[in-house]
This record gives sequence, C-alpha cells and structure tokens, in this order.
Amino acid sequence: MAVYLDYNASAPINSEVLDEMVRVYKNSYGNADSRTHDFGEQARSVTENARHQTADLLGVNADEVFFTGGSTESNNIAILGLREYAERTNKKHIITTAFEHHSVLNTVKYLEKNGFIADYIMPSRDGRINAEELLSHVRKDTLLVSVMHVNNETGMIQPVKEIGDELAGENVFFHVDATQSCGKMVEEIKALNYDMLSLSAHKFQGPQGIGALVLKRKKYRLPPVKNIMFGGQQEHGLRPGTTPVALAAGLGKASVLALDNYRENHRHCNEIKRVLIEELNDSGAHFQFNGDQDHCSVNTINLQFKGVSSEALMISTKQYCGLSNGSACTSKDYSPSYVLKAMGLTDEEAYNSVRISWGPDTDLESVRANFNQLLQIVKSFQ
Ligand code: PMP
Repeated sequence: MAVYLDYNASAPINSEVLDEMVRVYKNSYGNADSRTHDFGEQARSVTENARHQTADLLGVNADEVFFTGGSTESNNIAILGLREYAERTNKKHIITTAFEHHSVLNTVKYLEKNGFIADYIMPSRDGRINAEELLSHVRKDTLLVSVMHVNNETGMIQPVKEIGDELAGENVFFHVDATQSCGKMVEEIKALNYDMLSLSAHKFQGPQGIGALVLKRKKYRLPPVKNIMFGGQQEHGLRPGTTPVALAAGLGKASVLALDNYRENHRHCNEIKRVLIEELNDSGAHFQFNGDQDHCSVNTINLQFKGVSSEALMISTKQYCGLSNGSACTSKDYSPSYVLKAMGLTDEEAYNSVRISWGPDTDLESVRANFNQLLQIVKSFQ
C-alpha cells in the first residue's frame, strides 16, 4: 500500500480526536447559543472547553480565540476585517510576501483593487525573506504586515519572531499565518509577538472544516477586526453562524494531544526526515533540495530530481507514495509553483520539484520501503 506523504495538504485525523467528536455528535447535539434549555448549555460548555484547550496550546487567553472554518477564513477575516479601521485612519499600506498562501495573497490583491497599496517581499534562493528588508518597507501609513510562519510548499521557516519583536512597538498590525506550524512548533509560537494568528485543525490531526483566528489583546483591547459576513452574534459576531460543536471539540482535542506530544512528534518526524535523506543519498539519484535545509520544518522536504518531471514521477509512483508538487489549493493548475518561482527557480527546476510531508503517525518502515521504490523509478528516468 502507498505511503501518504502529503500531510501539508491535510493530515489524517487522530483516532482519539475522532472518538471525541463522535461522542459529542451523539451527546451534545444542542446549539451552543441556545439559552432556553440544558442541551444548549451543554453544547456551550463543550465549545468553551475546546476554546480553552486551543488557547492553552497557543499560550493565549481563551477570549482571544475565535473559531472559524479554517485558515482560509481566518486569513480573510484578519485582513479584510481591518478595512473599516484602515479607511477611517487612512492607513492602507500592507506588507506581505510573494509566497503566502492564496488566502492571503488573493485577499491582499482584492484590497489593492480597492485603493490599498501592497508590497510583496521576495524570498532569496534559500526560500526565506530577510526580516530587515521587510521592516525597511514599513511606512507611516502601514496598516498590516502578514507573513506565514512556515511555507506549506517548501517547509521554510520565516523570521516571524524577529519581525514581530521589531513591530511590537509600532502602530502596525502583525498577522502570522501559522497553518503549517501550529501544533508542531509549540514553543516557537508561544514566544512570538503578533496581533493575529491563523490556524487550521486538519494540519495537526484535527478535523477538516474548523480553525481559529487568534486576536491578541494589547492594553486590554483586541485588534479592530470587524466581521466580514453578517448574521448572528456567534464568536462575538466575528464569525456568525451556528458553532460546529463537534468540530470545535475535535480542534480542542487535537490541541491537547499536540501539547502533550509535540516533543515526541518532533523526534519522530526528524527520524523520518533522516531516513528520507539517507535513502536519497544512498540511491545515486540526482537531486537538489529547494530551500535552506537549516531552516526547514521537521516534517517537510521540497526537492528537484534532475531531468524528471514531477507530474510524470507522481503518476508513475503513486502505487508507492502520495506526494504533491505544490499546494493542493492550486493543484488543478499545471503552471510551475509560484513559491518556487519567487525563490528564483527556473520553470524547469520548478516542474521537476516535489513536496514530501509527513507527520507523527507516519510509519518509518513503510516510508523506507516505498520511498526506495520511488527512487528506483527516478533513477530509471535519469
Ligand atoms: N495557509 C497555509 C500556509 C496553508 O498551508 C493552508 C492550507 N493549505 C491555508 C492557509 C488554508 O487552510 P484551509 O484550507 O484549511 O482553509
């Protein structure tokens, strides 16, 4: 059976998380906002417990955690939600990077069509932006800096700690898309200075369809983010619509497990990476890593096999490994990865690149056997 190596697209749900969700679906089926009976009360206590569990993972207060449908929604609310404030204060300059997820890039581009100005910081060949260069773009009318913690395609860890520390004294909001680091880089996230942070449960063994936007209080005040959808008062009106109680419980449980196990998960992921690199080196295949491996997430490798198209490789090896060449959100598009292009790779280099990503429950022996088969096929192509 093929080994699943596309955790950055979505990680399998943990069975304890699923059990918890089934329990909630069966027993806590009320509407968490119903005040008129105990069923609502009980659903409310499940969601509030989940909010505390998510907050504990991040080291924030529970009233700073707002449930959303996932990071796409969190990113949209964080950016578009500042529009009213931006227009009132005439601060309409945004700084982001050229390799953000499309839920950030397309949202910023939409604002550009509506009178905002944006700077897109380019990474160097190593896949990272330079914090000082980014900060040199800050101006009097800068509203927002939005930078991802870990890039979903390359695994490159961005200097969000340095950027956040520098911006802490400035009148500029700092948003971190932590979709790929949440539940994994637990201590690093706790140490960050930010105003807003996005996460999605399904990237760390929770269910698809729920995430959170964290809004950190400064001097008791939340960032002036307004709702972008209209409805009821759920999530303080920031994300109207019936709270999905079982999904919230799933996010809460995934957060508890991540907090309990992140050190062991890190060790396991590191061991998988070591085996993958050992297999690569022993295979005799011609390959090159994309990005600076000293700043790469422990669960991701992005690399190019010389002269081997990733599309051809993935089709001819799918009985062994489930890989990808770019984010799932753009996989219907056959143009070369915009992330790799921003790093300065040629079209051919980008077309020959694949992303391999794994997680805490990836089986080491299955990786070894299947990846070895893939490498034999790579060699037959070279
Ligand atoms: N940001 C990043 C960095 C991501 O990797 C993803 C998912 N690929 C998202 C945002 C969007 O998350 P979701 O699809 O769960 O809304």
